[in-house]
Amino acid sequence: MTELTANTAPSAADPLASTAQSGAANYPGLDAWRDLPISQQPTWSNSDVFKASVKELSVVPPLVFAGEVDVLRERLAAAAQGKAFLLQGGDCAETFEAATADKISARVKTILQMAVVLTYGAAMPVIKMGRMAGQFAKPRSSNDETRDGVTLPAYRGDIVNGYDFTPESRAHDAGRMLQAYHTSASTLNLIRAFTQGGFADLRLVHQWNKGFTENPAHARYESLARDIDRAISFMDSCGADFEALKRVEFFASHEALLLDYERALTRIDSRTGLPYDTSAHFLWIGERTRELDHAHVDFLSRVRNPIGVKLGPTTSGDDALRLIDKLDPNREPGRLTFITRMGAGNIREKLPAVVERVTASGAQVLWVTDPMHGNTVTSPNGYKTRNFDDVIDEVRGFFEVHHALGTVPGGLHVEMTGDDVAECLGGADPIDQDAFLDRYESVCDPRLNHMQSLEMAFLVAGALSKR
Ligand code: PEP
Ligand code: MN
Repeated sequence: MTELTANTAPSAADPLASTAQSGAANYPGLDAWRDLPISQQPTWSNSDVFKASVKELSVVPPLVFAGEVDVLRERLAAAAQGKAFLLQGGDCAETFEAATADKISARVKTILQMAVVLTYGAAMPVIKMGRMAGQFAKPRSSNDETRDGVTLPAYRGDIVNGYDFTPESRAHDAGRMLQAYHTSASTLNLIRAFTQGGFADLRLVHQWNKGFTENPAHARYESLARDIDRAISFMDSCGADFEALKRVEFFASHEALLLDYERALTRIDSRTGLPYDTSAHFLWIGERTRELDHAHVDFLSRVRNPIGVKLGPTTSGDDALRLIDKLDPNREPGRLTFITRMGAGNIREKLPAVVERVTASGAQVLWVTDPMHGNTVTSPNGYKTRNFDDVIDEVRGFFEVHHALGTVPGGLHVEMTGDDVAECLGGADPIDQDAFLDRYESVCDPRLNHMQSLEMAFLVAGALSKR
């Protein structure tokens, strides 16, 4: 296992000199972002709490190891070539309060269930990745929120402020960064225990999926479930080592939005002398912070982790090429993932030009669909929601575009939960807006619930098996 130590940068003249100010890892350029335009950051000042939090985060143990990050890069390189498929899912915004064993296990269970179905449909390995163990910072369209004539700072995720609509709760508190770290650590610890300790047993996961297809609303998925059943029986007859199959790789990811936090958790890998952001295996840049010469793109260009960038409907082919040049100048396999979130009504029209331009340049990125963020609407009764049919339509559009161009549709990025919430409309066992009144729990964007998530997996598996 890789050892990560601080202050081993080869060219740092006096590594300790910068420790207090900018984190334990000293490496040229890691602080260049501080001089660049930056958006979506909290307004906490350089207070004592801020300094103490950053100082502590600079020396706490890393959440992930550089060796694991390198393994993920290889896995993503395979996905970019059509030899694996990425499944990335979890909350829009994790909260400290919801980091309970029940909720974490339900989410991991749902991702594992989806992965089994997708593995069968794709006939290739599925890379399992949570929007989990660190997804605490949210970009907002407005700095403030007004309710009944009262205006307070908008909720920016538990790492910045609280969701309760009071001045105390909405104040930006740098001490929350430490709680985010500790909550991430305990979440990741449980995920590692589940995925290494028997919970991921293929036969068990398949049994759970049978529960799904036994619901009459899901009868149309029965034949696929039966096919998977037969495949598992076949493996069993051939003497497959199911004990070995009990363990699965599971990677952690989040939006790298709060750069003070990401910078403080960046460490120099003792093997290579290079910087890794050890807050997660994979980090992505959001649609609102992907400006080329701004802070987020600069900072992430300097860490070794595989990086994702969300691409919305206004993205041009030139934008995509410039991002490649900046984030993946060496065209390293697995380094860069483009997560497109164009909207069901746009994807067939807008995606082809971007993909064609990137392909013509010779660059090989991993293309992933996020069918959630381009399809957000407000329900007649006032909830932020998404129609299951729109979500599925964007996924279909994504596959259609890549099939037509001969490129690789390499993954799926979804906001989902393992719980029986009511946040997105529709599905075979349909959710209607009345259910929002009792079962809408998200503090940010609407998530697919357990059943909707599995239904999506069955639908995508169908599309993949035709590939
Ligand atoms: C998100 O993933 O929750 C998000 C804010 O996405 P985007 O940057 O694509 O809007
Ligand atoms: Mn979201």
